[in-house]
Amino acid sequence: MCCKLYISMYHYTRDLMHSRYPDIKGLDKSLFRQQIEFMKNHFHIVTMEQVIAAVGGRYELPDRSLLLTFDDGYADNYTFAFPVLEEYGVQGSFFIPGKTFATHQLLDVNKIHYILASADINKLTEDVKKEMDYYRGMEYDYAPTDELFHEYAVANRFDAKETIFVKRMLQTVLPEKLRNTISSNLFEKYVGISEEKLAYELYMTKEQIRTLKRHGMFIGFHGYDHYWMGNLSPEQLRKDVDMALETLDEFIDRKCWAANYPYGDYNQEVLEYIKSQGACAGFTTEVRAAEIGVDSALELPRLDCNDFPPKSENYIKY
Ligand SMILES: [Zn+2]
Repeated sequence: MCCKLYISMYHYTRDLMHSRYPDIKGLDKSLFRQQIEFMKNHFHIVTMEQVIAAVGGRYELPDRSLLLTFDDGYADNYTFAFPVLEEYGVQGSFFIPGKTFATHQLLDVNKIHYILASADINKLTEDVKKEMDYYRGMEYDYAPTDELFHEYAVANRFDAKETIFVKRMLQTVLPEKLRNTISSNLFEKYVGISEEKLAYELYMTKEQIRTLKRHGMFIGFHGYDHYWMGNLSPEQLRKDVDMALETLDEFIDRKCWAANYPYGDYNQEVLEYIKSQGACAGFTTEVRAAEIGVDSALELPRLDCNDFPPKSENYIKY
């Protein structure tokens, strides 16, 4: 008993042409509508409740099932994607870091997106290297810049190697306090608005999340601080998971909730801890279709929205 489940992953869904930062990597609202129309015609769009029942062995998904997942809790999902989901009568699952609506502080991941959307990548790479050399040995210690560049500057299917280098240094490799300092320096230099203002316009409010939930959308876990969870100490891991669950309390069933790992990063300790806290489905960024009954319930792979029309026909390969 096994069947294929396609899971599509979304981040920003916005009116790119009228956006202040048209270079931010997102799915334009009109392409989003076309995509949902295509999916509605070619797949069975299923709910998270059905997927949870299927991975628990209590339900058989229809053939060509597809689940829609939205990461990070962006307000543009609420503004542009939610009405389209309503119109087509399908469910989206929204994975929201606790910090975004609890404190309205800008996550590092978004600071970096906006820096990348505002700066020339070669100048930016030089700036990051300069900052790393400047702070090395003052309060912090880490490997030589060239060594780190060699190790981490590896292109993936969406980003050039310089972009990956900047992302990795500022997302997880450098010590956390220093990452914050350097990101904030670069944000001020390139982006030109305050972090606080951007945080308020970028993320959904608690009231908006309540509206999604009331309209049958699913709300899930995406950490509290959007850390690379596999890199956290056991204490940091517990703290981040516990804070996230506390913040999401009114939206989730503590006995059976769905997790989605920031940056797709996790390890055995992460899986064990979230399972002990009631996680019953989990989503990664491994790129392929999921096989119900074969894949572990806490490690369901996903495709990207760019893998489906009108962006591409890549999904056929999976
Ligand atoms: Zn995320």
